[in-house]
Amino acid sequence: MIGIAEAFSPRYAQARQKFLQGCVSAGLTVEPHAHPLKGRDGEDLSMDVARDGDADAEQLLIVSSACHGVEGHCGSGVQVFALHDAEWREKAREQGVAVLYVHALNPHGFSYSRRVTHENVDLNRNFLDFSKPESLPVNEPYARLHPLLLPDTWPPTPENQAAIAKWIEKHGATAYQAAVTSGQYQFDDGLFFGGKAQTWSNKTIREVLRRHAGRARRVAWIDLHTGLGPNGLGERIFACRDDKVAYARANAWWGTPAAPVTSIYDGSSTSALLRGLMWDSMYEECPQAEYTGIALEYGTLPMLEVTGALRADHWLHKHPEAPADLADGIRARMVEAFYTDTDAWRGQIVSQARQAMFQAVDGLSG
Ligand SMILES: [Zn+2]
Repeated sequence: MIGIAEAFSPRYAQARQKFLQGCVSAGLTVEPHAHPLKGRDGEDLSMDVARDGDADAEQLLIVSSACHGVEGHCGSGVQVFALHDAEWREKAREQGVAVLYVHALNPHGFSYSRRVTHENVDLNRNFLDFSKPESLPVNEPYARLHPLLLPDTWPPTPENQAAIAKWIEKHGATAYQAAVTSGQYQFDDGLFFGGKAQTWSNKTIREVLRRHAGRARRVAWIDLHTGLGPNGLGERIFACRDDKVAYARANAWWGTPAAPVTSIYDGSSTSALLRGLMWDSMYEECPQAEYTGIALEYGTLPMLEVTGALRADHWLHKHPEAPADLADGIRARMVEAFYTDTDAWRGQIVSQARQAMFQAVDGLSG
């Protein structure tokens, strides 16, 4: 057992060290998947995978972090804590569930305090068939907002701020969130860009799924996210295809009458309706498995502050000539938008993730 605060890290390199040390102390072999680029401090980048349990277990729980790079401060802390949590490990073992930890799905974004991959792509909008470009979603509201979201200068001028405020006043905050966050395939320098091809992380997680989940009979996946909803609250968002049977199962495992598992398909989630989601790969790579998953989405700051941080981040990516103090401020703001650096928040994160993991083991073995 380690303290909760100790499990979290302010930088990717430390998070990776803690994950690797946690695997050593748990007696687990790490399977590194080296990323082609280096991190912000010149460190190696890797999607690290460790399996706690039998290679041929019929039930598998995947716990993954940093799909959206900078959100890895949260997910990595959950994973490191779990590796040192004897009661948790014992429970999964006793109930015949193998646990697959995927640390830093998007290590480049984690290291650079960005939500997107090194291809400037939102990994969780990137799982579409790019051989048919005509089938990619068209996001017209985003196209109209794009020049306002990424103005020539940063911070935005009062005119720019007024124009955005006017858009929100006219269409509503929900429509603004949907326009900005639901994904777009038109502007490769823009926000929530889904890409024009499979990213490195997309290809790599598919390989991991084939290797580790390709023979499992039942698979659950808890993918850890931050940046939506009330601070510290973990929303359990249904993360399967729009399938009533799977939704009922997810609700039986993780929902309560007061707090059901929410869904992007019926509007009950704080998240907009999305396409190109990462867990679509489960159906493609592991069609033999009965699959049940959630995104555990923890709140940090209000939506407009989070989208403000993302606009700044994308502006900076487009303007590498920006002065160092402005760049540092933008990166610090990104971390704040996706990681509330307090012990109270970290405590809420771990207790809710741990509960969801226990519930997943009961569900898988039930
Ligand atoms: Zn996320």
